[in-house]
Amino acid sequence: MNCDLLVVGSGASGLAAAVTAAFHGLKVVVVEKDPVFGGATAWSGGWMWVPGNPLAQRAGIHEDPQQPRTYLRNELGARYDAARIDALLDNCGPMVAFFEQHTALQFVDGNAIPDVHGHVPGAATQGHQVAAAPYDGREVGPLIKRLRRTMRETSFMGMPIMAGADLGAFLSMTRSFRSLRHVARRFSRHLIDLAIHGRAMQLVNGVALVARLAKSAETLGVQLIESAPAKRLIVENGVVRGAVVATTDGEIQIRADKGVVLATGGFPNDVQRRRALFPRTPTGHEHLALPPLGCSGDGITLGESAGGVLVTDLASPAAWAPVSKVPYADGSIGHFPHIIDRAKPGLIGVLANGKRFVNEADGYYDYTAAMVAAVPPGEEVASWLVCDHRFQRRYGLGFAKPFPLPLAPYLRSGYLKRGASIEDLARVCGIAPAALAQTVRAFNEHAERGEDPEFGRGATPYNRKQGDPLHTPNPCVAPIVQGPFYAVKVQPGSFGTFAGLKTNGSAQVLDAADRPIAGLYAVGTDMASVMGGFYPSGGINLGPAMTFGYIAGRHAAGAMTLAQAPRRAA
Ligand SMILES: Cc1cc2nc3c(=O)[nH]c(=O)nc-3n(C[C@H](O)[C@H](O)[C@H](O)COP(=O)(O)OP(=O)(O)OC[C@H]3O[C@@H](n4cnc5c(N)ncnc54)[C@H](O)[C@@H]3O)c2cc1C
Repeated sequence: MNCDLLVVGSGASGLAAAVTAAFHGLKVVVVEKDPVFGGATAWSGGWMWVPGNPLAQRAGIHEDPQQPRTYLRNELGARYDAARIDALLDNCGPMVAFFEQHTALQFVDGNAIPDVHGHVPGAATQGHQVAAAPYDGREVGPLIKRLRRTMRETSFMGMPIMAGADLGAFLSMTRSFRSLRHVARRFSRHLIDLAIHGRAMQLVNGVALVARLAKSAETLGVQLIESAPAKRLIVENGVVRGAVVATTDGEIQIRADKGVVLATGGFPNDVQRRRALFPRTPTGHEHLALPPLGCSGDGITLGESAGGVLVTDLASPAAWAPVSKVPYADGSIGHFPHIIDRAKPGLIGVLANGKRFVNEADGYYDYTAAMVAAVPPGEEVASWLVCDHRFQRRYGLGFAKPFPLPLAPYLRSGYLKRGASIEDLARVCGIAPAALAQTVRAFNEHAERGEDPEFGRGATPYNRKQGDPLHTPNPCVAPIVQGPFYAVKVQPGSFGTFAGLKTNGSAQVLDAADRPIAGLYAVGTDMASVMGGFYPSGGINLGPAMTFGYIAGRHAAGAMTLAQAPRRAA
């Protein structure tokens, strides 16, 4: 098979590269290892960090382009790579404009979401985020059957729920008639979709992003091939010219004149590399990765085979997330990411010694990094999220959903721990009982007034955004008083990996001497994190994944040099 550009992997980064290159006239093939397209992207919240995005501009938010640079300089320190940061920040706005104008990918405004570390100079309170607009699955056509469905753990009966007003309605439906009406409408339509199509058709979050990108790719004539893992690169005279791909009909060679884009989603499920690179992971199995199993390091291995270099000198090798294990009736285990519950009022996180160790309302990365650092060597790295009955029924705790859904299944499966008193709960969990009781007493004393002098819950705009806007005076703080009490054990996991192939501002893979390897690009989590292994804001995976996908597509098509790209594309 011959084409101009071969894209390996069908998440946001691969599809962004494919769509961009096809728009600029290249004949593009996308090969996907799994039987469905979409990768971790389809399971994601779909939020993209895009400072200066056109939606912010249209809303009258005009940020000094130096501000995100200042923020990143303060966050990344010595790991600030000016060339790649400039490539990201100069191209991310034009990337959104390109997709809006020329493809089925339309966006919604997430510009009210603040950067995570509001106390760091340069942090913005607005103007930095977009997500894919909700999409009606019917518009995708027959291709919908070939796309990955939403993540089981974060959906409700297969229905994805969008952060913001949609999720807010689900969490407040017992307190607001408007919310109840919204939920009734959404859910009844979902039941009809399940009956007719056997799947969710109100696409939001990552599934909307993938559906819109895949539809755009199909419209532009990109050939999409599933169940087709790339096995080896074809390298001729030091130039990458395609790959050998396993298909249901056996191995085939796909030759690509303009090169290959590695977009296989990093190595979150490569147990050997996890063991070698992740802290506190002696066997490799302690880590609870969230992405699909297919994201297992193929792109890194392919890149290394052509002379690429895996960058491991990062603040963290993975995009940390606190994760709980969900035991299912069939014996399988799911991974639930604690994104939403930690900042709500009336919850604390404690270690086995019964003590708090972090502001739980901070970012998921911060919570997990603090947990990894705080658990003494030799002990299992874990913490417990603890709340009372009122909290659990109002907001849910992890996978254990709020009222009106029953608690019994979560208690029966052992997912949710319960105790009539705080001490009882501690004993059930294996937490020091007297210490936990003391921690809760001390927390409650100040929480009555909405204060958290120990860790400052609710101190930043990001904290408050994640809290409950209907709860005063502090949307992140309430006492833990009404028994029975509940806890869920959380362990270190990740949204994906940060360690990845060394690349330049054009997404070209670099060799050990920092020279671009002709015909080889790496994007998304196959390229080393442009954030240096830090997590300054939500959306810092997908914003760069989309932007460097767009850059790689243009570069391969010879559309224009990087320096011209921002001005011309705008
Ligand atoms: C629950 C969850 C929520 C998240 N929410 C957000 C969010 O809101 N914002 C954000 O920025 N980030 C978020 N993330 C992280 C983000 O989703 C990922 O960083 C991003 O999707 C990675 O995109 P990608 O294109 O690199 O890879 P992926 O989307 O993972 O796609 C890679 C694809 O390559 C395929 N593949 C692997 N090997 C081969 C091979 N040999 N040949 C062919 N194909 C191959 C895989 O099967 C997979 O389909 C979230 C992640 C999870 C799991």
